[in-house]
Amino acid sequence: MPNPLYDRMFAPLATREDALLILRDGTRVSGQAFLATAARTAHALTAAGLKPGDRLAVQVEKSPEALALYAACVAAGVVFLPLNTAYTASELEYFITDSAAGAVVCGTGAEATVKGIASVPVLTLDADGTGSLTEAAAGQPDRFDPVDREAEDLAALLYTSGTTGRSKGAMLSQTNLLSNAEALVDLWRFTADDVLLHVLPIFHTHGLFVASHVVLAAGGSMVFLPKFDAAEALDWLPRVTTMMGVPTFYTRLLAEPGFGRETCANMRLFTSGSAPLLAETHREFEARTGHRILERYGMTETNMNTSNPYDGERRAGTVGFPLPGVELKITDPETGETLDDGASGMIEVRGPNVFQGYWQMPEKTAAELREDGFFITGDIGMIDPDGYVHIVGRAKDLIISGGYNIYPKEIELILDEQPGVLESAVIGVPHPDFGEGVVAVLVAAPGQTIDCDAVRAAAGERLAKFKQPKALEVVEELPRNTMGKVQKNLLRDQFAGAFT
Ligand code: ATP
Ligand code: MG
Repeated sequence: MPNPLYDRMFAPLATREDALLILRDGTRVSGQAFLATAARTAHALTAAGLKPGDRLAVQVEKSPEALALYAACVAAGVVFLPLNTAYTASELEYFITDSAAGAVVCGTGAEATVKGIASVPVLTLDADGTGSLTEAAAGQPDRFDPVDREAEDLAALLYTSGTTGRSKGAMLSQTNLLSNAEALVDLWRFTADDVLLHVLPIFHTHGLFVASHVVLAAGGSMVFLPKFDAAEALDWLPRVTTMMGVPTFYTRLLAEPGFGRETCANMRLFTSGSAPLLAETHREFEARTGHRILERYGMTETNMNTSNPYDGERRAGTVGFPLPGVELKITDPETGETLDDGASGMIEVRGPNVFQGYWQMPEKTAAELREDGFFITGDIGMIDPDGYVHIVGRAKDLIISGGYNIYPKEIELILDEQPGVLESAVIGVPHPDFGEGVVAVLVAAPGQTIDCDAVRAAAGERLAKFKQPKALEVVEELPRNTMGKVQKNLLRDQFAGAFT
């Protein structure tokens, strides 16, 4: 009986005696052992009363058992709903209630809290793989007959990162996930010989789908570490072939004195996404290692949309070309008309990767998912003469000052070049005359101080008057979430009173 996602990703593990996962302490988890854990877990979920289509909310530390829990959900037709381990009780309450989860798996520490939130079965799974879920699974059979699923059936309900507002639940079907995995394996040339350094969290699309699915679909293996640690990564890199990361992983690797060509001698591919990779980081990485990081662009709602090429130029500061099967256009945010190449506007995408809509938000779904299948991403972009897509910023970060539209990135790129500036974030905050005024938040390079007058003078030379920052603020570091995204909403709150 068919269950397309299970059949492609997990069924082949039944004959794999070699390692699927290699753990921090060197333990190797074979494909067969992993699948047996998934099967026992699927029986435990069924025994807890979960039926196909029910949502299972999961807030657990990354472990082989946590990944097997995802496999178990796919086998049992249960919709997997992973949650950021940093979420607090009140946030958990929103997700568990909003999704009407049929059961919850959490760490022992959160058990009492979760039981107070919802009267559904609560099972525990801790970082070391123990807990009441593992106990419930222990006596179960090592095989589980996967339930029938249609291509359109939901496999996961993934909440967005909440960078621009409250997180929304993106409904992802089997086909959404499968089509993207197939495209990426092909494009990035993953094979059974690949060993991926898996250091991303598995509650987010990047680590859960992009990284794990690509390895599973290719029949490769992964060094599966609980989190990214630069020194530890340095130790493992000579023994792997590929790594996927967010930009901060790469800047932290570059800060390690021992990191260089030798560390990367066995590597064939580094990819980056989830947040913009500075062109400078791209260049510095190449100078140090000889590798050009392959940057790609995606989101919870769509998985991956674009990627720089495997062969051919990986262009710094761009996210490459639409994936095969994905259509991408730039439109006028007001009218929805398609704009010519070279113009900045709303990025819209269509393809088998595009989600089924926001969970219980029919109005939001209707506003962002067009009837013809195009999804309005909320990202502003531009296509250059060679077809490379550039991300200019998020529509919600657009500043309107004195009636003029200002894209923060244009200003940030100039500020980042100034002596003593490590990085910057440009935001708009209320201004009595202009509606919004431009504030530049700057971080100094290690051991350096920023000459604000010089920065102001440089901005004055390069930018039209209305784009020039009206206030410069120097901070220790920019607020970032776990995926390395700058939280501009926090900066807007912090500097809300700059002009009033
Ligand atoms: P929310 O939708 O809740 O505000 P979010 O958009 O940050 O949060 P995610 O789905 O995790 O949630 O992130 C997708 C976004 O990440 C994209 O829309 C885009 O803005 C950004 N992004 C992803 N990859 C890149 C990249 N390579 N360069 C620039 N931005 C990127
Ligand atoms: Mg988003």
